[in-house]
Amino acid sequence: MSGDNPMAAPGRLELVRRFVNTRDIEAGTDALADAPGLRAWLRDGGRTVQAVRGVDLARARRLREALRAAATANHDRGPVPAEALAALDDVAARARVTLSFTPDRAWRAQARAGGVDGALGDLVVAMTEAMTDGTWPRLRVCANDTCRWAFFDTSRAGTGKWCAMRLCGNRAKQQAWRDRRAAGPARG
Ligand SMILES: [Zn+2]
Repeated sequence: MSGDNPMAAPGRLELVRRFVNTRDIEAGTDALADAPGLRAWLRDGGRTVQAVRGVDLARARRLREALRAAATANHDRGPVPAEALAALDDVAARARVTLSFTPDRAWRAQARAGGVDGALGDLVVAMTEAMTDGTWPRLRVCANDTCRWAFFDTSRAGTGKWCAMRLCGNRAKQQAWRDRRAAGPARG
């Protein structure tokens, strides 16, 4: 985990952000391209799973795109698509996410299942924790369609649209400037 990453999210939300970014749309790479890839990613996050089946891999990728869609809705301020909600619900059910109440008059959600189901459940639990502590709405997806990188928006107004790492905002501004120039009257 890169502590000095300006796009990193606080707490366990960073796990969610990194999971979404296992697919690098711009580079065309996917850390979850095959079962060993998913296993290695989970191991790096401290979860050792014995076996990863094809269906586990499909569920992991479905969850990833559901999280990307949910984070996209954070800046579009639109509803989370039904397909994404169904995927999130499915992961929570398979992981047997349960509530337990704590002495400090609070509660905690926990994935009870083992294996890949439980590991994916940890990600939706992390999402609910972020919803509870108010950090979730700042998990965003870069507005550049060829990028769609997940980042944590640290802008004061909470209106960040572009990831910082690839300077997508600068590229968008330059493109707008070129468009204006191309559309405007020819000069000198
Ligand atoms: Zn970007």
